[in-house]
Amino acid sequence: MDENIISVKHLTKQYQTEQVSGIIDINFDIKRGEVIAIIGESGSGKSTLLKSIFGFLKVDEGEVMFNGKRVLGPHEQLIPGHKEMKMVTQDFSLNIYAKVYDNIASALSNTDVKSKQEKTVAMMEHLHIGHLREKRITELSGGEQQRVAIARAMVTDTKLLLLDEPFSQVDALLKNQLRADIKRIAAETGVTVIMVSHDPADGLFLADQLLLIKDGKLIQKGEPSFVYNNPEHVYTAQILGNAVVLHAEEAAKLGIMSKTETVVFYPEWVELKTGWSSAGKRFEVKDVYYKGFYEELLLERNGVMIRAIQLNRGEHKKNDHVQANIGRFLNF
Ligand code: ADP
Ligand code: MG
Repeated sequence: MDENIISVKHLTKQYQTEQVSGIIDINFDIKRGEVIAIIGESGSGKSTLLKSIFGFLKVDEGEVMFNGKRVLGPHEQLIPGHKEMKMVTQDFSLNIYAKVYDNIASALSNTDVKSKQEKTVAMMEHLHIGHLREKRITELSGGEQQRVAIARAMVTDTKLLLLDEPFSQVDALLKNQLRADIKRIAAETGVTVIMVSHDPADGLFLADQLLLIKDGKLIQKGEPSFVYNNPEHVYTAQILGNAVVLHAEEAAKLGIMSKTETVVFYPEWVELKTGWSSAGKRFEVKDVYYKGFYEELLLERNGVMIRAIQLNRGEHKKNDHVQANIGRFLNF
């Protein structure tokens, strides 16, 4: 069997012809068992892409192959969607007055009651929600509701799980746990996962592959750390790492001579020097932003502002002068 579970070919879906909307000529393959993160701003076409893969939208051009077979659109079959794919959206679509157990079990048919019970209990264990079995959805936190929604989606021998903004309802602490859970569930069950988010923190560390979309176009695909370190567009560096973007004239004022229009670097590529050395240039600390275990410094030299990471909190303070060297930068 082909190792690709999904092949997206020339997929195009435009809502209006007058202006750019939806997705344009998207191509990629996904290997069985991979976790894929699709990152893009709000309105970039993420939900359109997921719905198109799922067979929920009539696309204008192109096709989606699932295990080598073309996914049918809503105009080609009575019930839209695919029985081996499940989509979990932001609203979870749970029966909020029913109990956790029943929300999950009701996704299964009644033909084999014993198997239905076993599968439901096993899936609750997988997602660590066994103890919530008798609770109603209204009594659960956002994170717990999300686990129930994923359990319901997974219980029917699902091969491909589509998650639309899976972490938007949960707080930062729970996010970490859910991210790890999704990775673990994928590894344990072999399910392939595609999740989309506008927040790169949701996907960067979790995914096997990262796909960046902008204005409906796929602009880069690769392993998260590779994409982060080798962005092909300024936009990618901005969305992934809050990069510093300078015009060539600004860069020149910092001693960086660039033949291209734009110079880009991440704050952590700026090396703060202790003492005065020839490798560094003198900057003034304009502001210090508290970031938890580190600080971000806003630095100025010759009227140009950059940002740098300071791991030794409190080492340099506002109005101090520091030596900094931009160790690595990219040209665009
Ligand atoms: P995302 O999920 O990345 O926020 P969407 O896929 O929902 O983006 O939307 C992409 C673009 O297509 C947006 O500009 C949006 O306004 C437009 N769009 C989405 N759904 C429809 C629709 N049903 N009718 C018209 N335009 C739509
Ligand atoms: Mg969306």
